[in-house]
Amino acid sequence: METTTQFVARVLGIVHEPPLPKKKNSSRYASGKTCWMCGGDTCGKGWPRSAALSGGFTGHDFALAMDSDAICQGCAAVLSGKAWQGMVAQKGTDVKVWGGAGWNNYSHLIAEDGTYIVPKRKDIRRILLDPPYGKWVLAINSSGQKHTVFRAQVAASQTHFPVQFDEMTVWIHADRFRQCLADFEALCDLGFSKDSILSGEYHHAQMLKVGIKEWREAEQKIAPWRTSDPDMITIVHFCALGPSHFEETRKES
Ligand SMILES: [Zn+2]
Repeated sequence: METTTQFVARVLGIVHEPPLPKKKNSSRYASGKTCWMCGGDTCGKGWPRSAALSGGFTGHDFALAMDSDAICQGCAAVLSGKAWQGMVAQKGTDVKVWGGAGWNNYSHLIAEDGTYIVPKRKDIRRILLDPPYGKWVLAINSSGQKHTVFRAQVAASQTHFPVQFDEMTVWIHADRFRQCLADFEALCDLGFSKDSILSGEYHHAQMLKVGIKEWREAEQKIAPWRTSDPDMITIVHFCALGPSHFEETRKES
């Protein structure tokens, strides 16, 4: 069965062969048939583990086949900055690339039809309100310093799907996301900061300015989400339009 990293490498057209061996007559490929990282089939063409993992890799807790010496080409590709740079150059993706840039510096949307987007917060909001058809992977990197793709799961639905948020895989029901986002942004529209809505600790001055009755009505709608779906509201908090957006929209109209 195809694993997430193998799906990503295939739909993005990334071919990522291990380097040629330095010693004559030794094999280019690792002997292991199972990928140390994703547990998928290496097809006999896996990378030697030490060659695929750079010194900075910190996802060892994730490995699914601890006793294997091999890493499949899909996993090797989603860990390689070079493979990412080659892919964005080939696709002409509008993204800043520097010498050390790689998968761990950005969020990613990867779809079955070969679409690759480096989504900003507002793009993530749009994607979650109107998810792609077919199979897709959304991996959100909130800090810009984490590998997310190898931990992600492939979504195959527009109504119930996994989203990778840093190290956490969150299953989302599209209709619940839409409602939670609407309840969250209603409070942003009243001028409350996104952090205060997430925590439930509001600034008193803003509460008085809005009016306690109006604040309470809005708060009663968002409060249940904090306990029933704390992971999803974290994603809502990440991509919701903040109070400044609503303020500017009011100025314009
Ligand atoms: Zn793998």
